Amino acid sequence: MPADLPQAPPGPKPKPAEKSQAQKLLDKLGLSRPIDLALHLPLRYEDETRITRLADARDGDVVQIEAEVTHCEVTFKPRRQLRVKVEDGSDSCVLRFLNFYPAHQKTLAVGARVRVRGELRGGFIAREMVHPSFKLAGGELPAGLTPVYPTVAGLPQTYLRRAVQSSLARADLTETLAPAVLTTLPSGQRALLGLQEALQLLHCPTPDVALAALEDRSHPGWQRLKAEELLAQQLSQLEARRIRAAMRAPALHAAGPSGHSLHAQLRQALPFALTAAQERVSHEIDADLQKSLPMHRLLQGDVGSGKTVVAALAAARCMDAGWQCALMAPTEILAEQHFRKLIGWLEPLGIQTAWLTGSQKAKERREALALIESGAAALVVGTHAVIQDKVRFKNLALAIIDEQHRFGVAQRLALRSKMTAGGQEPHLLMMTATPIPRTLAMSYYADLDVSTIDELPPGRTPVVTKVISESRRDEVIERIRSQLAEGRQVYWVCPLIEESEAVDLTNATETHEALTAALPGTVVGLLHSRMPPADKKSVMAQFNAGALGVLVSTTVIEVGVDVPNASLMVIEHAERFGLSQLHQLRGRVGRGAAASACVLLYSTGDGPRLGETARARLKAMAETQDGFEIARRDLDIRGPGEFLGARQSGAPLLRFADLATDVELLAWARESAPLMLDRHNALAQRHILRWLGGKADYLKA
Ligand code: ADP
Ligand code: MG
Repeated sequence: MPADLPQAPPGPKPKPAEKSQAQKLLDKLGLSRPIDLALHLPLRYEDETRITRLADARDGDVVQIEAEVTHCEVTFKPRRQLRVKVEDGSDSCVLRFLNFYPAHQKTLAVGARVRVRGELRGGFIAREMVHPSFKLAGGELPAGLTPVYPTVAGLPQTYLRRAVQSSLARADLTETLAPAVLTTLPSGQRALLGLQEALQLLHCPTPDVALAALEDRSHPGWQRLKAEELLAQQLSQLEARRIRAAMRAPALHAAGPSGHSLHAQLRQALPFALTAAQERVSHEIDADLQKSLPMHRLLQGDVGSGKTVVAALAAARCMDAGWQCALMAPTEILAEQHFRKLIGWLEPLGIQTAWLTGSQKAKERREALALIESGAAALVVGTHAVIQDKVRFKNLALAIIDEQHRFGVAQRLALRSKMTAGGQEPHLLMMTATPIPRTLAMSYYADLDVSTIDELPPGRTPVVTKVISESRRDEVIERIRSQLAEGRQVYWVCPLIEESEAVDLTNATETHEALTAALPGTVVGLLHSRMPPADKKSVMAQFNAGALGVLVSTTVIEVGVDVPNASLMVIEHAERFGLSQLHQLRGRVGRGAAASACVLLYSTGDGPRLGETARARLKAMAETQDGFEIARRDLDIRGPGEFLGARQSGAPLLRFADLATDVELLAWARESAPLMLDRHNALAQRHILRWLGGKADYLKA
């Protein structure tokens, strides 16, 4: 929930039982049910099963020792710190704490016997451990490795360990995999452990377990969890597909003699011919729209591949059949661009459109709402204002979501539920310029049909991409001058650091001032995320009209801006951007016939060189302009879990399995899912509930 939503007004309310702070934190981490905690697996393990003699330990070893404190003092050189000397009869070492509390000194008093765990280093004078963990000696040594869990501030490991242990006893871990699917497991995993056994082992491995197998997740315990997780995902997708198959949507047949249909007129009015790829996806969508089964289709196509016109043709089909269509975009700028484009195409053909955003005036909004409710507006375009409660459609049959991954999962769910009326679902067309690699889409999203535009309209000039160090900024400015001299326009993009909008603003403002000074005679515009929408609009309009030579911007231009005269884009601190984001930004240039370039200015900060992943991203940008190739590289660099999680759902869906490496298990899960649903439905339902709990819906969004 966004932080800025109004709080419920204070007042007398029935009081729920007070939850402890720790319990609230567990809820926040999504660990409310015993099974959730049982499935909260350790990040790593610490070996506290043994005591090592100092004399036997080598520098660099992480060891646990038991020793007596012989000296304890606060020193101030080179800075304030607590220095504690300990001896275990075989040797001595120094414990150093740069941050410490009175409790440290109390436990580590001279004469105390303590159990200390940390990395032993060869220090300047004596061997030392910096910030080791410690407690009073005595007490039994644990029998197994000690798990270290992912956690947050305020939720200590000790609490989490106890909570996990008790939930392992309480959670229902009975077998949900039918014997028939257990026996078809890939050969290497035939002898999978039971869930109970696997979890016990992963939470408290005995010291003889191969740590490497736990860490690289190849251990049979991990295999069992991955198999379970992938099966849950496939089951819920398949079920979502079946539920959808039972739902009805208006079948949108073309109306009237084809020459007079809106669809035909629109095609005729277009100033260009569709590419073969546009034709193909248009047919795929048309075929879906004519069925009474709700469409659930993702239209993916690189930046500039021409998705908008495909959407417009789908909208025309829908309106031809006498139904309403809604198009929703993630930002006001993008929504407005669509609106203008669609108005330009459709109003001459007699279609009335309505416009909805959060920032419009009350009166304008009321009028739009009335047009939508009466059905006078056949096409509605806007931001997420389109899914707000007050909006009532007369007969919505098609919802189009642009840049669908930028909408939260909850928003997409709201869209679908809100638009269901009279037992009919609308058809859903989602568009994205961040393609999912095909194999991944096929195997992972069982409930999604995918159409792909794999070709750009003719006449695009490739964008030359240069990766240049920040120290050569002057040369870049020279380049801007020469572009301006040719009458071209330039984008200069500054990074948006989410934690600190204030810093962004300073960056963008300073760059704006510097460029204004360096380019006398050129009007340099500034666009940033904190500007009121009306100001943003006016700046964009000026840039569109060519009144601004350079536009300095934070990433608000990421999607949807279409200014063919812009031929150069400079991205400052390019190392901070994600790969798909860089690719999207670059797509803003090269839209006209002029030779275009993109300069990725990087800074290594304080270090001598860029980090490995940043380098890999910039290299990918320099080497290819193909959105699918970029997506593949992104996948390589980040791993599919994160790729899908962050891009497609807003929440990571797979915690344990890795789609790139667990191919066999995924294939098994795909084959097993129908069998489980058809023949062992009760088990399947228990399995889904166990793994997805209340989150099953999210997979359908
Ligand atoms: P995106 O897929 O990134 O949303 P757009 O739909 O904004 O791309 O299209 C990019 C530009 O290409 C627009 O100016 C659009 O009018 C133009 N365009 C779309 N299809 C064609 C085509 N077949 N031939 C020429 N230009 C086209
Ligand atoms: Mg677009």
